[in-house]
Amino acid sequence: MKRVVENVTCPFCGVVCDDLEITVENAEITEAKRGCVLGRYTFLRHNDDRATMRVNGEPATLDICIEEAVDILDRADFPLLYGLASTECNAQRKAVEIADLIGATIDTTSSVCHSPTLQAIQHMGDSTCTVGEIKNRSKLLIFWGCNPAESHPRHFSRYSVTPTGMFVPEGRKGRYVVNVDVRKTPSARAADLFIQVEPGADYEVLTVLRALVNGRPVDVGEVGGVKVEVLRELAQRMKSVKFGSLFWGMGLTMSRGRHMNIFAMLALARDLNQYTKFTASPMRGHGNVVGAATVMTFSTGYPFAVNLSRGYPQYSPGEFSSVDVLARGEADAALILAADAVGNFPGRASEYLKKIPLIAIDPKESMTTRAARVVIPTAIAGIQAGGTVYRMDGIPLPLTQILESQYPSDLDVLSRIAAGIRRRRGLPETVAAHADAENSPRASV
Ligand code: SF4
Repeated sequence: MKRVVENVTCPFCGVVCDDLEITVENAEITEAKRGCVLGRYTFLRHNDDRATMRVNGEPATLDICIEEAVDILDRADFPLLYGLASTECNAQRKAVEIADLIGATIDTTSSVCHSPTLQAIQHMGDSTCTVGEIKNRSKLLIFWGCNPAESHPRHFSRYSVTPTGMFVPEGRKGRYVVNVDVRKTPSARAADLFIQVEPGADYEVLTVLRALVNGRPVDVGEVGGVKVEVLRELAQRMKSVKFGSLFWGMGLTMSRGRHMNIFAMLALARDLNQYTKFTASPMRGHGNVVGAATVMTFSTGYPFAVNLSRGYPQYSPGEFSSVDVLARGEADAALILAADAVGNFPGRASEYLKKIPLIAIDPKESMTTRAARVVIPTAIAGIQAGGTVYRMDGIPLPLTQILESQYPSDLDVLSRIAAGIRRRRGLPETVAAHADAENSPRASV
């Protein structure tokens, strides 16, 4: 039997395309129309590298895995929950609930990618907009320290470089594209102007660009390997365009300067808004990394690196970010949700993670599942489970469940773990029941 599911949301990257057409034949996905190479791979090869359910390397039932996970988390003095970015928002909320229940440190993959962006926005605010506004209005696009042609393949065609827009009817011909980076990537080929910056010199270049935008005297001929004349022309172009947009990636967040680079970028956008309309947006990577920061923020007040051991949230990047907690050897158990921490963390943190009781909840096999004591494979959010994800511009979009799965969803697994911990601790089964019990006359007596 063949069926076609329309307007499907791709959960792979932060572009979160919601126009895919998925063909299903005999319970198998056979086509993913309009998906890029990464999106097509996500749907067509979703069964590759599936993890197996196990405890201590031995096959186990879901009940045994849940019981073991509950045991590990219930006994831990300083547990860590990490990941969240590649699952949907209801599962993310449940993860925060578990962290609150056991007084854990909870952190997301932002911690090792765009945390400097989040910190800079907390200090500076941001001049932002939806990707729809960029498509319809933006005539000057500046991509700095990012390579969307490879990391976000449909960003150029859907939202930024080539589409026709309400006020950009000529499409590509009506836009001027600039790529700033330490080396030429495939994104440079899509640009009208490529500016090569010396590694680690982005802050200096951004600062001089700000000075030129603000009409300050600049008495050097070159900064960070870039001729000031090139920056002067760019500053003039930025001030004279009706609507322009800045984008940045990990080339800025994970290089020298980190949050100060983003601070300079946001300040540049703010300064430009004295002359024209300019926006600044991070190129967020994982499909629901923005959702993870959003859920963390509306649940705890902070977007990442939160510790709940005192019964209230404490936010401290560098202290409660996962890599630091692990490198100092503080966590005595960890639950990794939809992420490969062992494969991506620096050596010391990764090695330490292998030594402590580790629970991995993930549809796919990874270095983390291979090191984990408990492995619980789950239904893939966006293919085998529904939910909500946040696009890179902060717009929530629904995920479609296209196929049935033999595996439980992330939300099911986390709900069972939360219920198991509550039972162990003699607490009511649900948060609502817990709150009711606390607010009841009996509780206040
Ligand atoms: S650009 Fe990203 S969201 Fe869109 S189809 Fe490709 S991987 Fe999926």
